Amino acid sequence: MLNPAGCYDRALARLSRRDLLKLASVMGAAALARPATAGSVQGRPFFTGYPFSLGVASGDPLPDGVVLWTRLAPRPLEGGGMPMVPVPVEWEVARDSAFRSVARKGEAIARPELGHSVHVELGGLEPGREYWYRFHAGGEVSQVGRTKTAPAAGAPVDALRYGVCGCSHFETGYFTGYRRIAQEAFDFVFHTGDYIYESRADGGRNDGRVRQHQGDEIYTLDDYRRRYGQYKSDPDLIAAHRSAPFIVSWDDHETENNYAGELDENGTPPAIFLLRRAAAYQAYYEHMPLRAASFPSGPHMRIYRRLHFGDLIDFTVLDTRQWRSDQACGDGLRNCPEAHDAARTMLGAEQERWLFENLATARARWTVLGQQVYSFARDFVNVNPEARFNMDVWDGYAPARNRLYSRLTETGAPNPVVLSGDVHVHFGADLKMDYTDPRSATVGVEFTNTSISAGGDGAEVAANWEQIRSANPHIRYHSARRGYIACTATPSSMRADFKVLDRVTVNDLPVRIGGSLVVEAGRPGSHPA
Ligand code: FE
Ligand code: CA
Repeated sequence: MLNPAGCYDRALARLSRRDLLKLASVMGAAALARPATAGSVQGRPFFTGYPFSLGVASGDPLPDGVVLWTRLAPRPLEGGGMPMVPVPVEWEVARDSAFRSVARKGEAIARPELGHSVHVELGGLEPGREYWYRFHAGGEVSQVGRTKTAPAAGAPVDALRYGVCGCSHFETGYFTGYRRIAQEAFDFVFHTGDYIYESRADGGRNDGRVRQHQGDEIYTLDDYRRRYGQYKSDPDLIAAHRSAPFIVSWDDHETENNYAGELDENGTPPAIFLLRRAAAYQAYYEHMPLRAASFPSGPHMRIYRRLHFGDLIDFTVLDTRQWRSDQACGDGLRNCPEAHDAARTMLGAEQERWLFENLATARARWTVLGQQVYSFARDFVNVNPEARFNMDVWDGYAPARNRLYSRLTETGAPNPVVLSGDVHVHFGADLKMDYTDPRSATVGVEFTNTSISAGGDGAEVAANWEQIRSANPHIRYHSARRGYIACTATPSSMRADFKVLDRVTVNDLPVRIGGSLVVEAGRPGSHPA
């Protein structure tokens, strides 16, 4: 156990004189003269409630470290409940869960400007190893989190297990999927986005809702913080973060449904929508285990990045929201020439260039592209031939998809695996150079995860699955249940176990494997396990 007084002396030394005066005025001079012990200052609690109410998290593993995250929020639904002063937070990382062997420790400052969140970028750890971490502040101690560093650069790796999840709607179901992810103790978890939903409280209008959002639709930084506060108070979500490092990405609902770059779905002038986007992006940064490289700058934030897992996985995170062109033909299900306009972009010119250069240097056995919306073609074979493809996904950006697949082919990036979410159903698909010709080259595979809870209980399969299956022979697996994907990568294969829950409107049900696909290295395409 650390001595809180000692930790405060050192941490306080890093606060400015002005910070110290503010802290003293809020906590009483005794806060400085005699630092907090046993959770109180002169008998007064330092915090108005447990400050680690939103749990802890780690993310973006490198061979020598991870990012540690927490946010001090004794009252997360009431503005956080923190005094508006910088507050020192002590962190420690150990080689064992009992903290007998502490590997590193230090202090960070939780600042009001960032909602009293802290992001600690660790270095100096050993590669490919489990660690445990926790925080201390004001005499209180956080939950313990487990994390794992990435294997050494280029080192041989026998196997990695990772989870893929997304779309956790607080109102439409319990987060049982997150609880089952926690029990998997993955090497890492990739989040495909829709971590929160921005909609107002349903207010009991819909019988299918098991609980309610607090408040109206979210627009301001305070609104987004409160929404994250509500979601991250969920014990299953806290458990998932405590179990493994997350590699996070966002989709639309962290900001606004189906936004595209600077355009929301309501026709708001871009300059005005960007004010909302800036609030959403800042709140996202504040609540995720992201590195300083992703620090927000107004309405911009760079979340595309690349991580390496020894010689096994080259993992690229893409952002398909911030720089995309507007959805073609007014969005929705369409079949129109605009979707084939080569001037339109999904990634934006800069990110696309960055990705295409990186693909030429991919050397690991598996080239994984973790992103949000599915890239394979999905013909809805609607009665209305004008309503055949989803304009919010890569089908609405067909030339951008062709550029990506062509680049994967010409660089020979080994064994491409695309990850996606967004549509609240599981898919496993083979990626085809030409989706109208089943004999055309197979570029790689894609695993699309269903939702944690968005959409409620779901069904065994989508309503028109039989038509979709016959019109889309490259789709190898489908389930319309809730859950996540458990992937196992080895030098010889990549296996996806599609985990499903029979219901999410009933809490804590067991998870089962709905189906499994396997890809053999060097042989594009998947087959049932
Ligand atoms: Fe979603
Ligand atoms: Ca989405």
